[in-house]
Amino acid sequence: MPELPDLVIIEERLVPELIGRKISAIEIVDPIVVRNLTGSSIEDGFVGASFRGLYRNGPFLNFDLGDKNVVIHPMLAGRFSLEPNYKKKDLCVRFRMEGSVLNYSDDVRMGKVYFSLPGQFAQIPKYSEQGVDLISEQFTEEEFQRRIDKSRQQTRVFLMDQSKLSVLGNAYSDEILFEARIHPKTPCHRLTSEDKHRLYESIRRVLADSIDYIRRKKAPLDFKVRDHVKVRNRKNEPCPNCGTKIRRANVLGHDSFFCPVCQPMAGEQFIDWNRLQP
Ligand SMILES: [Zn+2]
Repeated sequence: MPELPDLVIIEERLVPELIGRKISAIEIVDPIVVRNLTGSSIEDGFVGASFRGLYRNGPFLNFDLGDKNVVIHPMLAGRFSLEPNYKKKDLCVRFRMEGSVLNYSDDVRMGKVYFSLPGQFAQIPKYSEQGVDLISEQFTEEEFQRRIDKSRQQTRVFLMDQSKLSVLGNAYSDEILFEARIHPKTPCHRLTSEDKHRLYESIRRVLADSIDYIRRKKAPLDFKVRDHVKVRNRKNEPCPNCGTKIRRANVLGHDSFFCPVCQPMAGEQFIDWNRLQP
């Protein structure tokens, strides 16, 4: 949390709340998540500035304050809320505005809040190295083919490589591979053209459906909506397609959840999944 669909909805919900509002105070509750790149104090540089825009670059939310920016990289556990009396222990930074408040909290303190000037984004780790944005017009099937054809990574590792695809985390990588019926460890160069076509379509469909679902759910901004996932964190539960127990495997240091029947390992073992269908 948050992954791409979560961030799209967070952006949609923060824009009408923040744009045009002037910052009256910034409370740094835990400085460990803060990076001030500007060379002057946060108080002097940012209090009194107004939110002009908000846009997402991969996993980063960039709050435009005119001649300066606040860039937040929530990583695995960062959360946003508009609750004026938010008092939980995970609170890290609070922006106060007249009539509103924005809280950034992170219980594992992995995320970062960068106070930056517009020319300094290259100093933010990974900000300038994002691959093609998966919900942009640039993410065409041709563009996807071009990137995957060059890769010899395992498919799940390729999906999570944000310098190629911006950006998939653990939950949606698993969901997309399930939808595409591809084993997470299948090396990209062993995928057939049909597999790659299905994978592209699955990325588009899973992200679009999840964004719609989270939008309709209207949960509190800091609530992680995950009840729509079919395999993620569902070890030993029945696969929604075939009833086989969902398994967990380690793929390059990440837990991956998949159905061993719907997503057989292709390539090395040459299991024909068509023959395994009931
Ligand atoms: Zn299955």
